[in-house]
Amino acid sequence: MDECIFCRIARGEARASVVARSSRAMAFMDIAPVAAGHVLIIPTAHVADIYELSDEDAAAVMQMAVRVARALWAAFAPAGLNLISSNGRAAGQDVFHFHLHLVPRVPGDGIRFRWPHSDRPDRDELDALAREIRSHLEIAS
Ligand SMILES: [Zn+2]
Repeated sequence: MDECIFCRIARGEARASVVARSSRAMAFMDIAPVAAGHVLIIPTAHVADIYELSDEDAAAVMQMAVRVARALWAAFAPAGLNLISSNGRAAGQDVFHFHLHLVPRVPGDGIRFRWPHSDRPDRDELDALAREIRSHLEIAS
């Protein structure tokens, strides 16, 4: 059995708040506290880290990240945006399926999206945020 959680999300076998999807790439918001407030962009095929990413998957993932960044800007006009990729356990990686983190920021170095009642993200709120971002995507997916 494949235990990679991001492969399970890409196959629709694990729950995520989906922002965008194409044949090669997918963007979603996850309930994991480590990624609370982030949009994650992944290749739909399993790729462990950046060293194994094909040119085609790299292009698809980066294009999706840029489109979601534009949609985030249109929806929320954050003061800043971080685009992050960690590779390897020593770099703080804990899921070994290549992914980008897109993190909207506000002044004071806060993350744009917060969950008011818990340090665990609330699925309904994530679904609403994902819907709002999706409504601003230039190309529906
Ligand atoms: Zn995987």
